[in-house]
Amino acid sequence: MCGIVGYVGEKEALPIILKALKRIEYRGYDSCGVLVQNQGKMMGHKEVGAIDCLISSLSESGYEGKIAIGHSRWATHGAPTEINAHPHFDCNGEIAVVHNGIIENYQSIKEGVLSDCIFKSETDTEVIPHLINLSLKRKLSPTELYSGELNAMQIKEAVKEALSYLRGSYAILVAVKGFDGLVAARKESPLILGVGDREFFFGF
Ligand code: GLU
Repeated sequence: MCGIVGYVGEKEALPIILKALKRIEYRGYDSCGVLVQNQGKMMGHKEVGAIDCLISSLSESGYEGKIAIGHSRWATHGAPTEINAHPHFDCNGEIAVVHNGIIENYQSIKEGVLSDCIFKSETDTEVIPHLINLSLKRKLSPTELYSGELNAMQIKEAVKEALSYLRGSYAILVAVKGFDGLVAARKESPLILGVGDREFFFGF
């Protein structure tokens, strides 16, 4: 089984995420990726192959931030390539998603409600950030949408609506540019929340 990890707190998030990915490495995976969020900047990196490659590529990255997500992928839809590795993004590159599981109806979503979107990957996962973006656009005025200050409730509601389109299994972590938090959700795939002293850990 592949892995999903996330951190929100007061510590540097990247070392925590890399250590967590290393810990679940024994399960097997074909590619991996991380995203660090810091005051409206999203910095990500993906690798085909070992977590150690990710660690050495990022050793001098300067990716600092207190919020991060990470993923080790076991491909179900799309070859094990860098483009297909997680996280996946919406068209604007502002909504990032890591996902464990399988979205069974992703093809009909792509051809239906997301027929205007340009997809970069072959994965089932990529419909999720695009659907969240669609829900945000439907729910918010353009001024709210582009203010760069979306609040937790607005994002949570958009994620909820996006998930209502999905058939299949998922554990997801969602990072949104400018939002100081993560949204997590699961259905049929496991996801665990650890609550520390002013910090939260997500994993499976
Ligand atoms: N179905 C997704 C993919 O192929 C997620 C696979 C996984 O759980 O690692 O990218």
